Amino acid sequence: MSLPPLRASLSCLLLLAAACSNAVAGPSDAVAESPSTSAPGTVVGTPTSPTAPVEDVGQVPTTPTPTDTVTPVETPAPETPVVSTPAPTTGVCSPLGSLSSLTGNLTTWLQTAPIATANSGGFKEPGGTELAAFEGAFRTLLTEGPTPRVVQDLAGMGYGVSTFRNDTGGGWLVVREQGLLSRGGGTFIINLFPARDLWLEAPHADSDEGTLRQTATQLVTLGARALLITGSNRCAVTTASPCSGTTSVCGTKGLRISDAAHYGNNFFTAAHRALRDTYPDAIAASIHGMDAGDGPEAAVVSDGTSAPRPDALSNRLRDSLNTHLTGTKKAFSCNAADDSGKHRTLCGTSNVQGRIDNGASDACFAEAAAATDRFVHLEQSATLRGTGASSKAVMQALADTVPCTLGGSGLGCPAVVAQDCP
Ligand SMILES: [Zn+2]
Repeated sequence: MSLPPLRASLSCLLLLAAACSNAVAGPSDAVAESPSTSAPGTVVGTPTSPTAPVEDVGQVPTTPTPTDTVTPVETPAPETPVVSTPAPTTGVCSPLGSLSSLTGNLTTWLQTAPIATANSGGFKEPGGTELAAFEGAFRTLLTEGPTPRVVQDLAGMGYGVSTFRNDTGGGWLVVREQGLLSRGGGTFIINLFPARDLWLEAPHADSDEGTLRQTATQLVTLGARALLITGSNRCAVTTASPCSGTTSVCGTKGLRISDAAHYGNNFFTAAHRALRDTYPDAIAASIHGMDAGDGPEAAVVSDGTSAPRPDALSNRLRDSLNTHLTGTKKAFSCNAADDSGKHRTLCGTSNVQGRIDNGASDACFAEAAAATDRFVHLEQSATLRGTGASSKAVMQALADTVPCTLGGSGLGCPAVVAQDCP
């Protein structure tokens, strides 16, 4: 459980990054000999459309699909050094250099993340052994980077790892399902140059309309550590989740196992656990949407419990939101005794990831007794999830609440490290 501390792992990644940006300076460099030839894509060095990412995986001028498509499961031979220039940095750089690479606008591209639709049957529950293996692999990815072993392990579970070079700068790892094995498992992005000790979660990325675009924007703009996007609509399957909590959102009463926020046996939760293990002090923000109706709330914020606690992180986020919101509706907190709006019950107390962070005895069956201030649950009106001024209030409030401590680039943060890898 005890892992290398944050700074060690961060500097490790930064080292990787710095090394890589030197070694892969030229567009024709390196990746041409990439062993990961299975991904379709265009040849290196074609800065095509700014919005549609291309995969520059070498000299495989197959179908020049400019968008992200299904890719056969890779059988990487990652030991082969990719960077041919002999340099002391080659060794640490090669794990990144051997990955398939995407370029484009990350925020735009993430909005096409695959999500199995309601009643599609598209969510397949992984077994316990596999979930433990995924969690371990994801943790290794966070602490050591994409080593050949971890890339291979993830490939065995149907997950590919790519680098993403955003057209506004920055370097990212994208962990996503590949090939025909899709189980509705989700898409996960790791920021190689984070600015804030924060990660974002979109467990209802499709059904809480706007939260996919919102979290993808927040990831990049705030310089968050990571973003977890569900791979399944919460109503993708009819199998009931045994976890405590209730909803009628799927038409019939009850939670489903395809609901990433209300069932723990999924890759989404495994990635959450790995992040929490690796970054015990980081804040996880679970971003949602509610039907605010004629209630006074623009948002309901909670720490994952409904217990009043004056100094709760959720109250600070609420306060900041209220300084930035311009309309008549305001943000309420589940952890402030005086906040008694219409939607006070939307406190995320049955959110599995929140229960994990708050140390519940069983994240599926038991609510947490108290909060750790490492998890924040945000329910928002449609207005806040839109693209107008109110959506900027949410961005600004998150920026206010989680300080710039990690050196990367983010809203209001003085970027102090290199920003270009891979
Ligand atoms: Zn939700």
